[in-house]
Amino acid sequence: MSTDLDSSSAIPFTKRLDGKVAIITGGASGIGECTARLFIKHGAKVLIADIQDELGHFVCTELGSRENISYVHCDVTCESDVQNVVELAVSKFGKLDIMFNNAGIPGITNHPSGTSNYDTETFKRVMDVNVFGAFLGAKYASKVMIPAKKGCILFTSSVASVTFGGTSAAYAASKTAVVGMTKNLCVELGQYGIRVNCISPFGVASPMLSQCMHNMEKKKIEEVVSSSANLKGEVVEAEDIAEAALYLGSDESKYVSGLNLVVDGGYSLTNPTFS
Ligand code: NAD
Repeated sequence: MSTDLDSSSAIPFTKRLDGKVAIITGGASGIGECTARLFIKHGAKVLIADIQDELGHFVCTELGSRENISYVHCDVTCESDVQNVVELAVSKFGKLDIMFNNAGIPGITNHPSGTSNYDTETFKRVMDVNVFGAFLGAKYASKVMIPAKKGCILFTSSVASVTFGGTSAAYAASKTAVVGMTKNLCVELGQYGIRVNCISPFGVASPMLSQCMHNMEKKKIEEVVSSSANLKGEVVEAEDIAEAALYLGSDESKYVSGLNLVVDGGYSLTNPTFS
């Protein structure tokens, strides 16, 4: 860890990921983009992997130099794409410390006429991106982390993995599967010094949540979500999730593995739905 003195303040700023190399899938937007921003600030080198190429390149240009950030097209459901991303991280930055399997899709949430009419192809697509895509990330990351005898694999699950309601069977099943995969891999990979954790966010007003809420505007989403929150009036931001990823990716959590870190301000304990 290195500590710099920010010229505008007397508070020392500690780079909590100094020298670490991270891949962030779904890093062109929302929680992934915000995490890339925070990881760069904390001294990491980041490879953003996404299917939104224009946005991904734009984010890279905005965030840093070619030496510390790069974008690569990667559909997480395509095995050769995922293998390529991991190989690229190693060839470009020399190693891989953090694999953040964050890309995800909602499918159709709250189908107006319920599961009996839910499109089966959409169900398969949600499982493909949210579960199989996350598995591929873990598979190829572990190929380089096992010989290195260290590493950190992170997944983005969802508060739907603990509350279940207010979404579709497909989304709840996919995000619950991610928690199962986290715990299984924690047990399997611990012997190699690899930690495996997941984060379960509450409603962040990202493009994905906007899509779920019929293209509702950010401000309106925040109003709806915060009115359902346990911490009344508080808005959960992508930064709150990125901070959880920073903690789990850093050595400060060096003895934390197998955790589903629920970032919901206690929402899952009050258990309403905001549909
Ligand atoms: P977002 O739509 O802003 O970001 C998701 C990113 O994933 C996008 O950039 C998208 O292009 C990318 N992506 C989608 N399919 C992909 C694929 N096949 N290959 C590679 N990239 C792909 O949404 P977000 O809210 O930032 O979502 C990030 C993660 O957080 C998702 O896994 C989501 O399920 C989870 N999550 C979000 C919320 C929320 O309220 N926003 C709550 C719980 C969990």
